[in-house]
Amino acid sequence: MAKSKYEYVKNFETEKKLLPNCWIVVRIDGRAFHQFSTKHKFKKPNDENALALMNRAASVVMDEFKDILLSYGQSDEYSFVIRKDTTLYNRRGPKIMTYINSLFSTSYVYYWSHYFKETRLKYPPAFDARIILYPTDENLRDYLSWRQADCHINNLYNTTFWALVLKGGLTNTEAEKRLCGTLSSDKNEILFSEFNTNYNNEPIMYRKGTILIRKRIKNPEHGKMRQVILPLHEDMIQDNFWQKHSEILAIKSSQSYEWPPDMPLPDIVMSQLHINTRDRDKEIVVIEETV
Ligand code: ATP
Ligand code: ATP
Ligand code: MG
Ligand code: MG
Repeated sequence: MAKSKYEYVKNFETEKKLLPNCWIVVRIDGRAFHQFSTKHKFKKPNDENALALMNRAASVVMDEFKDILLSYGQSDEYSFVIRKDTTLYNRRGPKIMTYINSLFSTSYVYYWSHYFKETRLKYPPAFDARIILYPTDENLRDYLSWRQADCHINNLYNTTFWALVLKGGLTNTEAEKRLCGTLSSDKNEILFSEFNTNYNNEPIMYRKGTILIRKRIKNPEHGKMRQVILPLHEDMIQDNFWQKHSEILAIKSSQSYEWPPDMPLPDIVMSQLHINTRDRDKEIVVIEETV
């Protein structure tokens, strides 16, 4: 077929391939989620359903893009770590970044009503995205440590701030003033002495964020091993995490993981195993079957 005279404009498109042999990280972050969380009545400081929805959307992305080895989420952000030897879309950065961002955003909206039964989505949320290359394992670990440290700092601040407002009766401005210039130890002390709260006993998902990795676990229904995307709330800053999950940096196949028998499997794992215990998961299965 003859080329049209307009086709030359394609030459204006320039797209460099991502540098070989580098870890690729895509981080998405909710646009103006401070406002979004207020408009949708998120519980402060941590709305569990909002975090569960973020985790669900991220697990959809991981399920679609098998070259994502690990994802890490906290607040309104998620980082996706893609294996350094990936050939995904010929390592075209914008293609990788926009697909991940778009699938995350649509999944967030798609699953909204399962996590927020009472609250209608008032307007379409948006997420920004960036793509970053890390040439060494150390750089990648430092990146993830940075995000997890950020989670800790913000969560300690928010936990103390909302204790002062919701339990202490301070206005937002008063609480802000009270916390201005305080150290971590001061915040821990305020929580402990004024609100009888030991910060270390706060739910671990709030303190550490959520790590999604592929693991082989025993399906509780028939005992067979099955690969799933597993949410963990461990400390990635310590070496121990990277020794325990050494397959990630070594880019090896997923390892088996013994889920504590006394702990229920998280929803997003149950749905991967097609076991429905809660109503909202039953509904998800119905929707998936009719699409
Ligand atoms: P930007 O568009 O620059 O990212 P932002 O308002 O989204 O602005 P962030 O720094 O990304 O600012 O912070 C996200 C905000 O969203 C938090 O400060 C918090 O108020 C709110 N938020 C996100 N997730 C939750 C949650 N699970 N529970 C309660 N509030 C949340
Ligand atoms: P890629 O992921 O590479 O973009 P693709 O399948 O989306 O693959 P496109 O070249 O973008 O390929 O073409 C989109 C295709 O979607 C069309 O060829 C057509 O088959 C279908 N399509 C899109 N919009 C419509 C529409 N309104 N009605 C019918 N078919 C449509
Ligand atoms: Mg944001
Ligand atoms: Mg954020």
